[in-house]
Amino acid sequence: MGGTNLVYEPASTPAAPSQKKRVAYFYDSDVGNYAYVAGHPMKPHRIRMTHSLIMNYGLYKKMEIYRAKPATRKEMAQFHTDEYVDFLWKVTPDNMDQFTKEQTKYNVGDDCPVFDGLFEFCGISGGGSMEGAARLNREKCDIAINWAGGLHHAKKSEASGFCYINDIVLGIIELLRYKKRVLYIDIDVHHGDGVEEAFYTTDRVMTVSFHKYGEYFPGTGELRDIGVGLGKYYAVNFPLRDGITDETYKSIFEPVIGAVMQWYQPEAVVLQCGGDSLSGDRLGCFNLSMRGHANCVGFVKSFNLPVLVLGGGGYTMRNVSRTWCYETGVLVGQNLTPTLPYCDFYEYFGPDYELDVRPSNMENLNSKEYLDKILASVIQNLERTKAVPSVQLTNVPMDHERYREEQEAAMDDHEEDTHADTRHLPRQADKRISHPMEDSDSEEEMERYIANKRNRRRHKDVDIDTPLGNSRTPGSGAITPAGKSGPASDSGAVPAITEPEEMAVDDGELADVEEDAVDKMDTDDVLTPAPPALTSNPLPTSAAATPANDDTPAAGSSAVDNIKTEASAEVDMQDADHLEVVDTPTVDVPATEKVKTDAPAPAEEAPAAKETKEEAEGETTAAKAKTPEPTEDQEKGKEAGPVEA
Ligand SMILES: [Zn+2]
Repeated sequence: MGGTNLVYEPASTPAAPSQKKRVAYFYDSDVGNYAYVAGHPMKPHRIRMTHSLIMNYGLYKKMEIYRAKPATRKEMAQFHTDEYVDFLWKVTPDNMDQFTKEQTKYNVGDDCPVFDGLFEFCGISGGGSMEGAARLNREKCDIAINWAGGLHHAKKSEASGFCYINDIVLGIIELLRYKKRVLYIDIDVHHGDGVEEAFYTTDRVMTVSFHKYGEYFPGTGELRDIGVGLGKYYAVNFPLRDGITDETYKSIFEPVIGAVMQWYQPEAVVLQCGGDSLSGDRLGCFNLSMRGHANCVGFVKSFNLPVLVLGGGGYTMRNVSRTWCYETGVLVGQNLTPTLPYCDFYEYFGPDYELDVRPSNMENLNSKEYLDKILASVIQNLERTKAVPSVQLTNVPMDHERYREEQEAAMDDHEEDTHADTRHLPRQADKRISHPMEDSDSEEEMERYIANKRNRRRHKDVDIDTPLGNSRTPGSGAITPAGKSGPASDSGAVPAITEPEEMAVDDGELADVEEDAVDKMDTDDVLTPAPPALTSNPLPTSAAATPANDDTPAAGSSAVDNIKTEASAEVDMQDADHLEVVDTPTVDVPATEKVKTDAPAPAEEAPAAKETKEEAEGETTAAKAKTPEPTEDQEKGKEAGPVEA
């Protein structure tokens, strides 16, 4: 479609008129100083470009700007294994030769290189998302923005697709301390596999990903991947083909999200705004304009729920930065002039210096028939989540005092009877693994999910004989659905578990829809059942639920279980000290010496936490003084190189 309209039009049929929002924006001026390796498509500099546009458009007047405390190792270990986090913490370009075994194990190398300041970079990304979530929890804001976040491919103990630490999972874990149900929406061109996997077996997080599927990284995200156990129907995948336009994207996004809102009734939303779904992306293959992309943001905003807005992929920096700036405008409710203000890195935006990212004339391979069929299937599945929220409300203990008590008991190594009737503590999951499956389909589903991931790995031509396999597997909940939100399953009241045969996406016809849509070879590959050798590899069930220093890589319920673990010791901090953290400038972050090769020189100082508007203006002015040259490899065509994110 044309897509050259210059006025942002709110999406149709929002739940309610958008209200004035209190927006908290997280930015660490160090972030732009980090660089992957030369020629790598992922460029943290784009975050700095975005920030400069935001400041020069004056959007700081309508939001509060924070510099979050970087995520600590302990915080990262709420999702990731201690061993993996420690590796990221200690590995450097200088000593990486000592860690070749670990690099293989953790998939650090090609797509996810070791670079100077890697751990600090992860800390910035994770810290912003965690702080954003924490402020939403405390109702200090309505919307929190962290463009340095959204790194959706990172796994529990594995880097993937340019992502090392999954800030999204960390943010969602934070939200789950206060919110019964969290909706995750992913509009990156790639499947949001890391987040999906982390919450694949729970109904407390619904993941919804719209992505290119078929011979494309990461290879997962089939229509029929819908979650397992308690998580069944709480993972939603909308596979797409090349060239989707604003109009067609909107025609699926709004009905799907509208149905989710109606039936799932989330209490908070996390929106991953990967910019590689924009037209002309160096790695992407969609044809969204800036306005089509931002329509998703406006539509989500219109439901007036707490929203954590994150970045993600996006490899044509001038497009990503303009779009995220524009979306910041949407979130604060300010229209932006179509001509860019003067800003740092201004020359990136020539020759036209306009705000809009426009679509191209590429062909849209998503036929209406195809989209309608996928949409119908997705909606049909979503309807099955309809009754569950009320069940959850009555059965899931969300009282934090209670969490704390339970977890203290757990940490004391007392799995005592007092808890048996409220929830299943981690070690109890061990016992439950030998029980008959609550849902006989779950095992099959999980095996297929795992096989899918393993085949994907093969497809990526990475050594599958390394002990990485487990990290690809969803967590324990697959086998012990009761392990994650015990009471609900104890009650046997979760419909998803009792109605496996009616699963719409198992319908052959619907499965065909998707299979037809993807390349034959890829489909055959992906659908291959798990080889016996792999299925014999025990699911890391107990590990997923054990405390974080367990090394066994598993996701799934672990992400949820760890919330409870973490909540025990830190709930107090959450309400007291942690609050200070948000507002405390972390000016001691040692980042400038990590400046890298192809990143332009830093052009501005960080707005220290909660800076005043005057300070912000000062920064803007100061920043204008320096205008680095565009990097040599910026955004010209799709160079060979790493595959994703
Ligand atoms: Zn991506």
